[in-house]
Amino acid sequence: MSRTEHDIDWGKLKSELKEAAPQLGIDKIGFAAADPFTELKGILLKHRAKGFESGFEERDIEKRVDPSLTLAEPRSIVSIAVAYPSKLKDPPRSEPGAYRGMLSRSAWGTDYHHVLRNRLERLADWIHARVPDARLASMVDTGALVDRAVAERAGIGWVGKNCSVITPEFGSWVYLGEMITNLPFPPDQPVLESCGDCTICIDACPTDALVGPGQLNAQRCVSYLTQTKGIIEDDKLKEKIGNRLYGCDTCQIVCPKNKGIHFDHHPELQPDPEQVKPLLKPLLEMSNREFKERFGSSAASWRGKKPIQRNAILALGNFRDATAVPQLAELLRRDERPEIRGTAAWALGRIGGEAALEALDAAREHERDDAARREVEKARMKLRERKDDHVGSAEV
Ligand code: SF4
Ligand code: SF4
Repeated sequence: MSRTEHDIDWGKLKSELKEAAPQLGIDKIGFAAADPFTELKGILLKHRAKGFESGFEERDIEKRVDPSLTLAEPRSIVSIAVAYPSKLKDPPRSEPGAYRGMLSRSAWGTDYHHVLRNRLERLADWIHARVPDARLASMVDTGALVDRAVAERAGIGWVGKNCSVITPEFGSWVYLGEMITNLPFPPDQPVLESCGDCTICIDACPTDALVGPGQLNAQRCVSYLTQTKGIIEDDKLKEKIGNRLYGCDTCQIVCPKNKGIHFDHHPELQPDPEQVKPLLKPLLEMSNREFKERFGSSAASWRGKKPIQRNAILALGNFRDATAVPQLAELLRRDERPEIRGTAAWALGRIGGEAALEALDAAREHERDDAARREVEKARMKLRERKDDHVGSAEV
């Protein structure tokens, strides 16, 4: 270091950094000790044992709780928050025959991973300009550490019963990132506010995925389900997905701590209404190139085109959009992806009608994929039973 550790007033440097944060595009910055998150280890192990993980997280639990496994001899962790918008100006309307899907707010604007990486780079430049040989390790979302635990320890906010970090200033509409450092910044105090007796998010969750305060069964969470690539086998879960194409905001929208909170001062995070609330039927025919052009810049694109198309089919089924039957029948007949064929079969069963039943009867003859076949059979049975009921009631 050009200056020794003892020459630097770390408390003063921290205050200067807090003051500089807005110019770096950071809305809130907090400092935590880099001790292991010992209390978290048991929680993560239990979570895994119960099968509540999404599978998208870092597998090595030791790495998730011990900052020294990412950066040797860490002294502090800097946690940052960037606020994102919660409201869409002039949202396009869903109408019969022209229904729309919805991307969650975390997929509005430019992929937040890029935005946060940019902020962390600016933060690193700021630190290196003052402490040239500082050692820093930055991470966003898929990094080893648990963002929420870091943010809570660093005084950014508290972890609500909906598992989001809630800041007093920006509610839970914030992206989080962190930087492990070898610099002895003094730590901040955790936020004292809490959820109290409120359980609104737990009661509002459409799939009962919040199995307790701050405990999420990711396998039931719509946000996770929309990011999976296979056929969603549970029909009840298919229905609960509604018209969500990516992510789910319900437990944040209902939170009273988010009431009236909307910050849209970061130009990169501004939503394009046609991208975040797109018409469903055109999505079914998107080429890979069109998908890249339309969604490539959004965080919703990370799992590729298929989950978005599968979810668009679910949404059309959930809207019971009869005008989509010809397109769904065509997908069932010709699409090369069994997940798309199986989901189209389910949607046809949910929409119903003669043409849907004909398409399902035809698929019964040629469908060879086991999972897609099961969907065809279930949907056919449902429509056949409905038809028999109608005939029966007409005869009475
Ligand atoms: Fe429930 Fe949606 Fe929240 Fe997941 S994101 S816990 S499904 S409300
Ligand atoms: Fe906490 Fe209520 Fe918000 Fe849930 S809805 S996170 S319980 S304040």
